[in-house]
Amino acid sequence: MLPVVALVGRPNVGKSTLFNRLTNTRDALVADFPGLTRDRKYGPAKFENRAFIVVDTGGITGNEEGIDVAMAEQSLLAIDEADVVLFLVDARAGLTPDDIGLAEHLRKQSKAMYLVANKVDGLDGDSETADFFKLGFPEVLQIAAAHGRGVSQLMTHVLTPLEKIFPDMEIVEVEREEEYPDAKLERLQNSPIKLAIVGKPNVGKSTLINRILGEERVVVFDSPGTTRDSIFIPMKRDKREYILIDTAGVRKRRKVSETVEKFSIVKTLQAIEESNVVLLVIDAREGVTDQDLSLLGFVLNSGRSLVLAVNKWDGLETHVKEEIKRELDRRLGFVDFARLHFISALHGTGVGHLFESVQEAYNSATVRINTSVLTQIMEMAQDDHQPPLIHGRRVKMKYAHAGGYNPPVIVIHGNQLKDLPDSYKRYLMNYYRKALKTMGTPIRIEFKEGA
Ligand code: GDP
Ligand code: GDP
Repeated sequence: MLPVVALVGRPNVGKSTLFNRLTNTRDALVADFPGLTRDRKYGPAKFENRAFIVVDTGGITGNEEGIDVAMAEQSLLAIDEADVVLFLVDARAGLTPDDIGLAEHLRKQSKAMYLVANKVDGLDGDSETADFFKLGFPEVLQIAAAHGRGVSQLMTHVLTPLEKIFPDMEIVEVEREEEYPDAKLERLQNSPIKLAIVGKPNVGKSTLINRILGEERVVVFDSPGTTRDSIFIPMKRDKREYILIDTAGVRKRRKVSETVEKFSIVKTLQAIEESNVVLLVIDAREGVTDQDLSLLGFVLNSGRSLVLAVNKWDGLETHVKEEIKRELDRRLGFVDFARLHFISALHGTGVGHLFESVQEAYNSATVRINTSVLTQIMEMAQDDHQPPLIHGRRVKMKYAHAGGYNPPVIVIHGNQLKDLPDSYKRYLMNYYRKALKTMGTPIRIEFKEGA
């Protein structure tokens, strides 16, 4: 599990600036769930060798009225799901009544919290942030998020204590120079497949899990966990062992409002990180929504294998089905490595076949690929279509080997590889996919300069 860091503060203190800095990647994958979560943003983040999830809670002041109260409640829910809260204030604006109101709110939470004074660039930090001690925190950490100043110290300070509780947050770089160790691969091949079932609220995740497990199992897994805990359900199918990661919280529904309550993006992100294969459920009746695309973005970023299930495929007229299929083709072209199933969780139609694709995806992601095969494919690709000339010299790929699995990582060594245009990299990726006949898993290619 990865720890969750929530950024809290009134509007304009610099939360999204810090969020962007922490999620960093140019193609930052941000789940913006309008409606359900208001303007909260979620992103997988990396700082040095640590991975975590960062949540920008949107602006709250603690003094909301009317409609804003509901928004604030959403933000407070995000705080509830966090392991650490960074409470941001604006060093330029100084202490405001909203900061004081919000601090009062936050003090009621028993949670690790840090007070962070942002925008200290060009200020005498110590004297100009002294006022913030009135908020009752033991220290006022100073940063300039826009310039990156102090951010490194801040994150070291915040993340180091979490390492004991979240050993998984440490990013262990696979040794790329050598081939992926056989023992490690064998372990992967013989472990139960961790299958996360994810999707936005009401797509039919619970119905599907009930269908898979058979009704009698449901009550057994009535877990008292918090909203952000997934339920892990071991099961066996066709002689293969699985661990279902249930993000829907299949259990007796006690409250009317449970449908909304049980959905949590943090939980979904955690489940994806935890899994080998993700089964993303889409609602046929709603088509591909922005929320689906956000979740897909997270799956792609994680490198996990993927199977898509279009649910509620029952009772639709033929022309409606055709229309939906056309839309899916149009909008899901970028995940054409994944199998797409049309199912009815309610009636059980097509559910059995899902597992064939899950197995296929996992096998593709963990099949041993040796150096000579990878190098041969690389040479074939190079023969069919030469890399371009850069400054009059041809980019030269020399050999390839495996650098990881789930997802398969192919490491290519050669000269001037950093100059390869993206179009050629895509060509290589597709070439490998076809040659290796992988299905359901993305492939990553890394380039290494020199022999
Ligand atoms: P949010 O509403 O809390 O998400 O705040 P934003 O991240 O949108 O920032 C609000 C404004 O403060 C923007 O104009 C930022 O450029 C500015 N800002 C953010 N961080 C810094 C900083 O470290 N120094 C300065 N001088 N301005 C900053
Ligand atoms: P979750 O929030 O993703 O767990 O969704 P649920 O499993 O609670 O389902 C939400 C609603 O969709 C419920 O009313 C289900 O009965 C309905 N539903 C789920 N699967 C199907 C299906 O395959 N066909 C139809 N017609 N309705 C479905």
